Amino acid sequence: MTQILSGKPAAEEIIATVSRCCEASGVVPGLAVIQVGNNSASTLYVKKKVEKTRAMGWVSEHIHLPDMVSETELSKKLDALNRSSHIHGILVQLPLPDHLSVFKVLEKIDPAKDVDGFHPLNVGRLVCGLPLLAPPCTPYGVMALLNYYQISVVGKNVIVLGRSNIVGKPMAHMLIQAGASVLWTHRHSQNVPALARQADIIITATGHPKLITREYVHSKSVLMDIGINTWNGKTVGDVDVDAVDGYVAARSPVPGGVGPMTIAMLMRNVASLALKKPIV
Ligand code: NAD
Repeated sequence: MTQILSGKPAAEEIIATVSRCCEASGVVPGLAVIQVGNNSASTLYVKKKVEKTRAMGWVSEHIHLPDMVSETELSKKLDALNRSSHIHGILVQLPLPDHLSVFKVLEKIDPAKDVDGFHPLNVGRLVCGLPLLAPPCTPYGVMALLNYYQISVVGKNVIVLGRSNIVGKPMAHMLIQAGASVLWTHRHSQNVPALARQADIIITATGHPKLITREYVHSKSVLMDIGINTWNGKTVGDVDVDAVDGYVAARSPVPGGVGPMTIAMLMRNVASLALKKPIV
């Protein structure tokens, strides 16, 4: 029997705590989401974030800029949001078009309003293990999901597949900080299936549907699937569920696993920035 680690109850619990804390404080958090261009996946993600912020009864700004917007124009928008008193969190939806430098854009966000934790100063805090009001939402969501199902990472061997700045890298740092032994792999890594078979927990963020087969797992494996891919018109993760279900100990589903946790952690981060203290 494989336990399905649904993100829905865990996300609902976090959202309820966040709502309670905000209501008690009397502060109304505000989130601004900047989208550049019309990437279809980005449009969907932005829609979910904006809708959730509105459903919370918070201030929500969706700034949709044309694909060819200049860095100067984008900087002006960010400067205005940095100064705004009703916006506490600023998110620039990635990826950006090629003519824009992601690093230059992220550096323009006030680190105190950096709701995704991608500003280099906040990345530095994460790497140093310093307190961070808004850690990167997706890996933070994975940690919260493991915690909800009381799966400890302390002393465990965890393999992370992926090394992007927004998922794989912060994921590995959070795990190390939490006491895991982390093996970090990427597209050039050799013998990943054999390495994965030695891990207690597999965290995959590769964007390759059906990558994780029986070859990668053992009967006690726990699989955290971050991937969001389209396969025959369906949304699937990186895990070949037909191959592993009934064999591994537990896995997070796609959709309905890490996805709802990412949104919940985003709401938590906006609220923490607004209240200037971590909501736990
Ligand atoms: P990315 O393309 O930037 O990074 C993919 C990483 O996977 C790279 O570092 C690459 O080296 C590595 N990789 C590729 N093949 C591999 C293999 N066989 N073994 C080990 N590593 C391998 O993508 P990203 O932005 O990090 O996103 C990864 C996936 O997570 C995508 O499917 C994306 O849609 C999804 N995602 C989900 C959420 C969520 O909320 N659930 C949030 C962000 C991203």
